[in-house]
Formats: sequence, structure tokens, C-alpha cells
Amino acid sequence: MNLETDALQKMLTRLQLTAVRDQLDNLLDEAARRELNQRETLSFLCEAEIARKDQRRIAMGLSIAKFPFVRTLEDFDFHSQPSVDPKQIRELATSRWVANGDTLLLLGPPGVGKTHLAVALGREAIQRGYTVLFSPAAVLAANLLRAHHGRRLEERLGHYGKPKLLIIDELGYLPFEADAAHLFFQLVSRRYERGSIMVTSNRAVSEWATVFGDAVVATAILDRMLHHSHVLTIRGDSYRLREKKRSGLLKVSTEMAKK
Ligand code: ADP
Ligand code: MG
Repeated sequence: MNLETDALQKMLTRLQLTAVRDQLDNLLDEAARRELNQRETLSFLCEAEIARKDQRRIAMGLSIAKFPFVRTLEDFDFHSQPSVDPKQIRELATSRWVANGDTLLLLGPPGVGKTHLAVALGREAIQRGYTVLFSPAAVLAANLLRAHHGRRLEERLGHYGKPKLLIIDELGYLPFEADAAHLFFQLVSRRYERGSIMVTSNRAVSEWATVFGDAVVATAILDRMLHHSHVLTIRGDSYRLREKKRSGLLKVSTEMAKK
């Protein structure tokens, strides 16, 4: 390495242009091959750096979000789920609702793809630069209660209050304890009109008083959550069960074809 290259490497490091630094020879060769002029070359180098930084940011955002599994909108089979409007999902994927601090409710029976869509839309929000945190409702409630008893509630509310989008999965599978409902109300109030909440639930909104164990708290929570909200109701049978049935049917038909 000659002195000039060494100095350049150092400057690129100091400017934190690590993608340009690590791939400099390849990028310059490519620029020459494409016969880019100086300005275009500079632009090409910036693109490479931005691509690397975006990639890092997204990887970091995905690990912070704590999704339970990897699911994307590309993996979602809209044909087998006619109650989901692809146009509405495309609109939600722009994450405008996250920018606005709106609430999104994904409602429907078990197995219809609520968590799948929640994770996929969460990933879209991360790609667009928003911070996301995913938590099963039961874990969130248990953590708020534990923090409350340990006099660390403020810290926990800060933790759940900070991300731009908080995804609360499976609200309603287990009813909240009375204390937990009050703590949940505090969280919703804190996030109100600042950050978005996405909730998946197998219970209709009308049943949430039962979930929270208290009609007054439930009303106060719903009042804030539903103020600026989008609701996606998914109907139909469990996707997994349907897949099983279909593979069963396929087996029967191939056996019949052999005969
Ligand atoms: P829910 O949260 O509504 O109970 P999930 O989102 O966990 O259901 O879906 C159950 C499983 O079926 C997941 O592995 C999910 O990826 C898959 N699944 C559900 N609906 C679809 C679909 N329309 N296309 C592809 N996979 C789906
Ligand atoms: Mg689920």
C-alpha cells in the first residue's frame, strides 16, 4: 500500500465511510467500466455507502424489535385469505399510519395470519426508519406488574414508551389482572398521539372490558386507542389447518390418479 492510499484509507475511516473504504478498488473499477464522470463517480460511491448504512440500520432495528419469527408481506398468500384486502395492506406498508402515531388493530380467530401480518408490517416500518418493539401481551403485562412492584415502573414505561411503533401480540388470550389493566392504561396514555400501537387480538373490541377486567379502564384505554385507528378484521379458518387439509386432499387425488 503506498502512502497516498494509506492516507485515503485513514480519511475514509475517520469519516466513517467504511463501505467506500472496504470496496474502494472494486467501486472505482466499476465506475471506470461504466465510464462515469467525476460527479457520477462521487454519487456512485455515496450510494454504496448509504446502502451499507441502511443495511446495518435495518439489521440493528430488526434485532431490537424482538420479532418471534421472520415473516414478510412477500410470504403472505393473499389468495388463500380473501378477507384481507391487498390494497389496504399496501397502504399500511407505507407506514404513514406509524408516522401519524395511529393505532392498528388486527382482529380475527387463531391461525388466520394476524401475527404474520403484524411482523411483516413491523419490518416495513423498520425499513422506513422507524423504531419498533414487538411484545406478546402477556409478557408486557407481566413486565409492567413486576416493574410496578419493584418500583421500576417509570423505567419500564420508558422502555415500552420509546419505540415509534409498539406491537402487542395476542391481547385477550389471557385476561389482564386488575393492576395490569391500570398499568396498561398508563402505557397507552403515555404513547397517545406520540407513538403508534399495533394490537393483534382474537377478541372483538366489544369484548375488551372482559379482557381488562374492568369496564371503566377498558373504556379509557379504548378511548385513546381508537381515536386515530385502523381496523383489519380477518375471517376464515386457520391457515395451518387449511394447509393440512389441502395436503390431505392432494394425497387422496394422487392416489386416485395412480389407480
Ligand atoms: P394468528 O396470529 O392469526 O394466530 P399466525 O400469523 O401465527 O396466525 O399464522 C399461523 C401460521 O400460518 C404462521 O406460520 C403464518 O406465517 C402462516 N400463515 C397464516 N396466514 C397465512 C397466509 N395467508 N399466507 C402465508 N402464511 C400464512
Ligand atoms: Mg398470533
